[in-house]
Amino acid sequence: MSIKRLYFFGGGSSEGDKSQKSLLGGKGANLAEMARVGLPVPPGFTICTKTCLEYQAAGGLPDGLLAEMHDYMGRLEAATDKRFGDPSKPLLVSVRSGAAISMPGMMDTVLNLGMNAAVCEGLSALLGDRFARDSYRRFIQMFGNVVDNVSGEKFEHELDAVKKSRNVENDTQLDAAALDEVIERYRAVYLREAGSSFPEDPWQQLERSVAAVFSSWDNTRAKTYRRLNRIPDDLGTAVNVQAMVFGNLGEDCGTGVGFTRNASTGEKEFYGEYLSNAQGEDVVAGIRTPLPVMASRAAILGQTGQSLEEVDAPVFKALMEVADKLESHYSDVQDLEFTFEHGKLYLLQTRTAKRSGAAWLRTQVDFVAEGLIDTTEAVRRVPADSLAQVLAPTLDPNAAAVARGEGRCLAVGLNAGPGAASGRIAFTADDAHDRAAKGEAVILVRDETTPEDIHGMHAAQGILTARGGLTSHAAVVARGMGKPCVSGCAALFINAGKQVLRVGDKEYGPGDSLTIDGSTGEVFLGEISIGDSEVLRVLVAKTAKVEDAPTAAAFVKLLSWADELRTLNVRTNADAPHDAAVSVALGAEGIGLCRTEHMFFEAERILAVRRMILSDNAEQRAEALAVIEPMQAGDFRGLFREMAGKPVTIRFLDPPLHEFLPHEAAEIARVASELGVSAEVVSERLHGLRESNPMLGHRGCRLGIHYPEITRMQARAIITAAMDVADEGIEVLPEIMIPFVGNVIELELQKKEVMEESERIFAARGKKIPFMVGTMIEIPRAALTSGEIAGPAEFFSFGTNDLTQMTLGVSRDDSGSFLPDYVQRGIYEADPFASVDKTGVGRLMQICVDEGRAARPGIKIGICGEHGGDPPTVAFCHEIGLNYVSCSPYRVPIARLAAAQAAIAD
Ligand code: PEP
Ligand code: MG
Repeated sequence: MSIKRLYFFGGGSSEGDKSQKSLLGGKGANLAEMARVGLPVPPGFTICTKTCLEYQAAGGLPDGLLAEMHDYMGRLEAATDKRFGDPSKPLLVSVRSGAAISMPGMMDTVLNLGMNAAVCEGLSALLGDRFARDSYRRFIQMFGNVVDNVSGEKFEHELDAVKKSRNVENDTQLDAAALDEVIERYRAVYLREAGSSFPEDPWQQLERSVAAVFSSWDNTRAKTYRRLNRIPDDLGTAVNVQAMVFGNLGEDCGTGVGFTRNASTGEKEFYGEYLSNAQGEDVVAGIRTPLPVMASRAAILGQTGQSLEEVDAPVFKALMEVADKLESHYSDVQDLEFTFEHGKLYLLQTRTAKRSGAAWLRTQVDFVAEGLIDTTEAVRRVPADSLAQVLAPTLDPNAAAVARGEGRCLAVGLNAGPGAASGRIAFTADDAHDRAAKGEAVILVRDETTPEDIHGMHAAQGILTARGGLTSHAAVVARGMGKPCVSGCAALFINAGKQVLRVGDKEYGPGDSLTIDGSTGEVFLGEISIGDSEVLRVLVAKTAKVEDAPTAAAFVKLLSWADELRTLNVRTNADAPHDAAVSVALGAEGIGLCRTEHMFFEAERILAVRRMILSDNAEQRAEALAVIEPMQAGDFRGLFREMAGKPVTIRFLDPPLHEFLPHEAAEIARVASELGVSAEVVSERLHGLRESNPMLGHRGCRLGIHYPEITRMQARAIITAAMDVADEGIEVLPEIMIPFVGNVIELELQKKEVMEESERIFAARGKKIPFMVGTMIEIPRAALTSGEIAGPAEFFSFGTNDLTQMTLGVSRDDSGSFLPDYVQRGIYEADPFASVDKTGVGRLMQICVDEGRAARPGIKIGICGEHGGDPPTVAFCHEIGLNYVSCSPYRVPIARLAAAQAAIAD
């Protein structure tokens, strides 16, 4: 049984519509739709994607297709009042690919098809010698290239020879006689390279071009693109055969592109560029710089009088009408291509516009106000990740493009902390700190960072590391601080001792400036201008008013709609009152993880922790703990006050020891003098503590089980701080979280210490406050025995950083050397440290939820690994019924939006 293969569009009718993307391809479906609603598209027909599959199966054009094409060409001739191959009124067509999922530039296109020597003569009479000959020579080149694989350079070589002989620079300077010579030379190239003379028969041209487009579905670049973008191989492409219109027939002709709204700010204004007397390729090739469509824009650019609005008012008016119609028809911003031929406007393509985060927010909020969509649809559409751009200081896109063009992009690493920063290179934290104190902007450049570097990280504008993945210390801390960070940039060779950064064969030092873009992972040489985020200025710093800040206003509105829709709660990972305040301003509903070891990153505190770790007897340890306890209690009071009435989960100390031990001689000497022992003694102790895999070492509750006095100190600090703040009349909801539990007995032992300590305090103070004790689920055994663990645990929180590293057997700190390759090859769908591996880690989470809830119905379960701010992970957490996700403060809005989208999808 034969299928319907061809679909006509244009001349006020259409056989297809926009819902038929899989059959007609994206381009074909939109052309059909535009024709259907009466928009001016040049008529044509689409050969459907199923025909491509037939072509593949048969190894050639399927039987009957040619007859159908003749039939449809007849309709096209009637619609255009031209004839295919007839020199007296020639019809030329374009033949373009168009898959269901856009694959830009991956497949082939042929323009001006139907041209031959006789048609060229006919066209000369109608449209001028030069124009006809130029179209012909372009066609020979494109056809030869696409259909017969003749390299474009072979043609260019001949063109250059003719230009040289005529002593001209540009093709536009070649007259008709010169172009005749080009045509002859091109035909000779074709004969030599393709082994036969150039096909003059338009039907042979069409047949072979359609076949070539179908074949291009399986060219290497299309296959690679599909593999990388996870597009199935069995979709096939459609072919669009469309009457050519010409923007290069004179000054009342032209071509351009436009967005129905400003795609970078979202403002309600058409944004477009055009060239008069030109074809689409001229815009792309950059031979002439396009001019603005709008007069207002031309005025800004000092091009008053040259805009389309001023130059050709009727075409401009038609374009505005079409743009309005398209936008309300598709109820979203459109990116369109147009051509005008002797004052008549044609649309060649429309599609949903790509846009910045700010533009996403503003356009959707405006569409709701305009009654085009409802609030749920607005929330559904905005890509949650795009909010990161709205919060981050951003590189000026034009300046970045110039820098790329100048070859100043030195390397690309992981986009670990969004935002952009510029500064001179600092190779050590101290140097960064000291130079920043004197007012210098610096980028801290390290192999990897450790807690010792924290003051330098704070002081630096941004952080760049050669090693470490997305959950490395540098990445986690940078995101927590909202600092731009590029990590795992393997092309960097850093010699901090010699103060040299080497990239390839070039060397840079402290006098050189770098700019990093933590949203793309790019590292540039030199400074590039950067702007501050409006949303943060309004919501956090409060230095700008919402009335003056359209992006911030849209941000607040869209997220309030999201909050009404979501069922997941959103908390934050914060260790300091300032971070807590930022997160609340961004909508956090509690703290899901306070990493107490992070509270010791400051210089005088880290010393106390080191004393505690390095002391080899209980007395010394007690002394160190006595110094730490009031500091902790003070920090906790600050957090409880900031989070008034919201839950605060505080995790007991979980320092991977290597992160806290002194490495350099000066540090060792300082700790030794503090401890009143020699540097040798400290070095010996360091040696004894060295672990070959510290991530699986003496950390988490293992430390508290070994040294219960640490657990008791922390329990005292939390409970007393909570009671102090409660006494101030502020509601406190403390949740004590035990890390790194793999066995229920570990939790029981730790909980016992906490309960005994709290009872002592309650007895001494003569009153009680409620609090909970729960555990992290970050060791696979904990997930698998959650039924037992739910006995003593009043809540669970998935620590998916460790759970991922242990489930996959991949170290979170040094997987950068192979993991990106794994993702490229599709072994993992995404970086499993950024987006939860649902199949493996996700299965453990599901088991844990099921068995934990069976043992303790209603147990509160959340996630606090870095994945908590990743939209696909948030969706997964919604699906398996978690109560909340917790993420770094600047990701809170992303999680709020992602949670709402998960609820809508449900
Ligand atoms: C985790 O393992 O996911 C976690 C939140 O703890 P940390 O990153 O501090 O090990
Ligand atoms: Mg952990």
